[in-house]
Amino acid sequence: MIVAMQDVATEDQIQAVIDHLVQLGFEVHRSTGARQTVLGAVGARPEVDIAIFEVLPGVQEVHRISSPYKLAGKSFRPEGTIVRLANGVEIGGKEVIVMAGPCSIESHDQIFLIAEQVADAGARVLRGGAFKPRSSPYSFQGMGEEGLKLMREAADKHGLLVISEVMEISQIPLILPYVDILQVGARNMQNFNLLRELGKARKPVLLKRGIAATIEELLLSAEYIMSGGNYEVILCERGIRTFETYTRNTMDISAIPIVHKLSHLPMTADPSHGTGRRDKVPPMARASVAAGADALLIEVHSNPDKALSDGAQSLFPAQFTTLMNELRVIAPAVGRTIR
Ligand code: PEP
Ligand code: MN
Repeated sequence: MIVAMQDVATEDQIQAVIDHLVQLGFEVHRSTGARQTVLGAVGARPEVDIAIFEVLPGVQEVHRISSPYKLAGKSFRPEGTIVRLANGVEIGGKEVIVMAGPCSIESHDQIFLIAEQVADAGARVLRGGAFKPRSSPYSFQGMGEEGLKLMREAADKHGLLVISEVMEISQIPLILPYVDILQVGARNMQNFNLLRELGKARKPVLLKRGIAATIEELLLSAEYIMSGGNYEVILCERGIRTFETYTRNTMDISAIPIVHKLSHLPMTADPSHGTGRRDKVPPMARASVAAGADALLIEVHSNPDKALSDGAQSLFPAQFTTLMNELRVIAPAVGRTIR
């Protein structure tokens, strides 16, 4: 931590800050310039709130220089994390993994048809929610366990893996046998009790960025899961809430290279929730792969106009096939492969 004192700070004020830092276990290096004194506090104390120093008399500004997330930070595993799944699927390796399917599992016929269509186009993982976090309590809430059973069967039939959202702790044991990846939705990114419980699970977790969460908060949420012993965390940018109203959310493509710089965890992009509009999904998917995304999460529906949730942002199967063909051109240009 760096504490810059005001140029009018008195020697007593400087000494008080030094004493406070030492008392907290920091080693303090003092640099006194012609006008200003700067204190360098060395010692990994991520739990210390730097705001306590900002309000001390004579302090001008305080900056943290070590990252507050240790397990999720790049230095913990500089070579990067590869999450290894069944069927030889690896997220964080050379291949860009595409996870596709409907927003919600709606029926036997719906999930079996879409599984076939996304598998034919090159997807590796079938997505679909059985428990849906809907903004309105009157909207379709998902098929529950019955939906998970159907999705697992449909995925197995077409050689796909399964990702589905877990909304609360009590659903974890119910969902676990059916999925290869547990999804934590944007609304639950800071449900710390759920994250802690997922830290005890021995299955990969895809953690979505909250609608108003900073990248640092996303990494701290990953830290919650990892500190429980589950290191198989996959991060996901899915758009954030901004003042722009044209799109449902603002897809923060820059989060991809930023996360890759700060963390060793694989990074996914979800351009469906990221934009909320079908025609904007392919350009943002292409941009995400170009920006280095390790995986994509894309909503595709055989009949999106009749979808029970997120129809407007779901691609038609033919659009998804075209997108996959485009991604097969883009991926090699950035040193990646795609199925
Ligand atoms: C979803 O993937 O369908 C979903 C609800 O996503 P998010 O949590 O990003 O809104
Ligand atoms: Mn959705």
